[in-house]
Amino acid sequence: MAGNGETRKKSIHSLAGELARAEALGLEALVVHCGSRGELDPREARRRAVAGFREALEVSKTRRIPLALENSAGQGSSLARDIGEWGELVEGLPESRRAACLDTAHAFAAGHDLRSDAGRKALIRQVGEKIGWGRVKVLHVNDSKTPCGSGVDRHEHLGRGEIGAPALRAFLRNPVLRGIPRIGELPPGEKEDRENMRFLRSCG
Ligand SMILES: [Zn+2]
Repeated sequence: MAGNGETRKKSIHSLAGELARAEALGLEALVVHCGSRGELDPREARRRAVAGFREALEVSKTRRIPLALENSAGQGSSLARDIGEWGELVEGLPESRRAACLDTAHAFAAGHDLRSDAGRKALIRQVGEKIGWGRVKVLHVNDSKTPCGSGVDRHEHLGRGEIGAPALRAFLRNPVLRGIPRIGELPPGEKEDRENMRFLRSCG
């Protein structure tokens, strides 16, 4: 979205198509990554990304479907690693379409240490302040293959990565997260799918 020329045009049109399909299907929100700033100054990149999201909403002729912007691990020059920056992007959407998706593996790789009580509380407080938990329509619950702060986005089965089962469970059991739908974006495997589902159900 923050890109140039043909790339940006294609991004806007493909997102508009997704929005129209998501609305036609009656879905609750459409999750999208915020993209990359490339060589741009961060403020200009945010401005351009927000304008692109708004244009996609217009072109799609949708009226209802919220656009849930996802936080990133910060890989390359991706936008929304910083919670404040993510909040500014969300804030830039039209009020009635404003939503967010929190990905646990991305937050961890971006430097939020979910293994400590202080780290979990800090992330919950920052998301509350910069996004508002009422806007978080979905959680991407993933463990991380890569260390905290690595800036590298690699998902791992729940409880088998660097975040680990106790930390993920403690985070998900925080009352502010209650009732927010949870999706795992995990490596394939039928046996692992079952274990991941069992884990998620144990998290209340
Ligand atoms: Zn995700």
